[in-house]
Amino acid sequence: MVIGAAARVAIGGCRKLVSSHTSLLLVSSQCRQMSMDAQSVSEKLRSCGLLRTQGLIGGKWIDSYDKKTIKVNNPATGETVADVACMGTNETNDAIASSYEAFPSWSKLTAGERSKVLRKWYDLLIAHKEELGQLITLEQGKPLKEAIGEVAYGASFIEYYAEEAKRIYGDIIPPNLSDRRLLVLKQPIGVVGAITPWNFPLAMITRKVGPALASGCTVVVKPSELTPLTALAAAELALQAGVPPGALNVVMGNAPEIGDALLTSPQVRKITFTGSTAVGKKLMAAAAPTVKKVSLELGGNAPSIVFDDADLDVAIKGTLAAKFRNSGQTCVCANRVLVQDGIYDKFAEAFSEAVQKLEVGDGFKEGTTQGPLINDAAVQKVESFVEDAVSKGAKIILGGKRHSLGMTFYEPTVIRDVSSNMLMSKEEIFGPVAPLIRFKTEEDAIRIANDTIAGLAAYIFTNSVQRSWRVFEALEYGLVGVNEGLISTEVAPFGGVKQSGLGREGSKYGMDEYLEIKYVCLGDMNRH
Ligand code: NAP
Repeated sequence: MVIGAAARVAIGGCRKLVSSHTSLLLVSSQCRQMSMDAQSVSEKLRSCGLLRTQGLIGGKWIDSYDKKTIKVNNPATGETVADVACMGTNETNDAIASSYEAFPSWSKLTAGERSKVLRKWYDLLIAHKEELGQLITLEQGKPLKEAIGEVAYGASFIEYYAEEAKRIYGDIIPPNLSDRRLLVLKQPIGVVGAITPWNFPLAMITRKVGPALASGCTVVVKPSELTPLTALAAAELALQAGVPPGALNVVMGNAPEIGDALLTSPQVRKITFTGSTAVGKKLMAAAAPTVKKVSLELGGNAPSIVFDDADLDVAIKGTLAAKFRNSGQTCVCANRVLVQDGIYDKFAEAFSEAVQKLEVGDGFKEGTTQGPLINDAAVQKVESFVEDAVSKGAKIILGGKRHSLGMTFYEPTVIRDVSSNMLMSKEEIFGPVAPLIRFKTEEDAIRIANDTIAGLAAYIFTNSVQRSWRVFEALEYGLVGVNEGLISTEVAPFGGVKQSGLGREGSKYGMDEYLEIKYVCLGDMNRH
């Protein structure tokens, strides 16, 4: 029986998550208790001014022009947390215009002045870590501890780029002729359109807005309709920090309309997108007529490769973290667990034991490590992948079905004897299902790992230094963790190769995405 079925339906051009009648009736008593907690959290957030429901255009909080709204639901209970403005073409055009107007003054501030504003924003984000974490749990579902961790991670990009703003160096090049001097300037690209997904409601935004504002760009952010509340709260804190009107705008609602407005405007000079590969490809094509700079952080299909010579405890801890963070809903989640012949059975048993200890529940409940999936479509996708694998010979060791809590909770699952012809080997599962694939040799592991159009993250577990070098050099991935399952940090470049994307976020490399290089040739320099 399907419990907690929810459907995305079209309502006045904006989509909305609607919980079915059945789901509300069948919510367990545990969920009802938790929904009361969620209610008190949302009241607290409202009273401290962080539960914003309007868009931000030109420094003003604004309803959608036709007053349409969109519901934001708590995925753990199906209850509506807030109705937010459902915006489209007109609001986005005004946001672009205000960003365009704000650009000359924001970009002409000294790096030190921009840095101070960003640093203040960082301090405010950290000061409101708890509230922002609660907001993330409320609209996205991840456990509160993990959500507060996301706030610290998300804020770290603002702190890092506050510092990095002062280090946007140009170059002086030895000239080709003695009467010339050759200079290279790095200048902000202009207005940036930033489109972000629901799985990290804060960090995916700060990873873009931090370097954009630091470099002198102005930004129009479009968060996911499923999780706009964290973005709006972060924008409120940006205003309090002194980000001037128009330098940061937030519009949400009708994604195709907002996307079209950003992509067709000649005033928008860059599109930065994090989300699915399918949407990323569409945006890249639509950016061509106005020749915009494009950065894409797209889907992955990460292998976690466990060699016979791995430390079993390290491999289990690392794979568990890489697979089950955010209930398997991250782009860098281990999607395929490749295990060598000699350690396969031992790993399968010990890994399943570890997975069994994961606590499924509402993110606000103490001890929860696995929250709900974002919506029913996500659960249906996981179900279809599991069904496909089982029909082709895979065996479920643990889990394999919806959780008794109902709604969009799914049991942490381990499946063995998975092979490359199964859907879960080819596409992102985006759920708490770990498929175990057996391999014989190092060459086999590299071949299987690279046999995908994706190239975001990969993980290797081995005690051999020589093997780790051979394998990470051969892997066609933008990020590799060796004996480590959690590798993202603001100080290192994040991004994919192949169809996982273009460009990098975080680190000194992330700043380049928002800068143009200008070459200046000074002639006639020998004149007295
Ligand atoms: P998605 O469906 O592609 O949506 C991402 C964003 O694009 C959302 O804001 C969405 O808006 C918007 N969007 C959808 N259609 C659009 C259109 N036609 N024009 C303009 N914008 C449009 O992806 P998702 O389901 O939110 O996120 C999950 C995906 O993101 C996974 O594939 C995951 O791997 C990937 N991801 C990648 C990274 C990375 O760094 N590489 C990080 C996190 C996630 P609405 O939600 O409002 O419809």
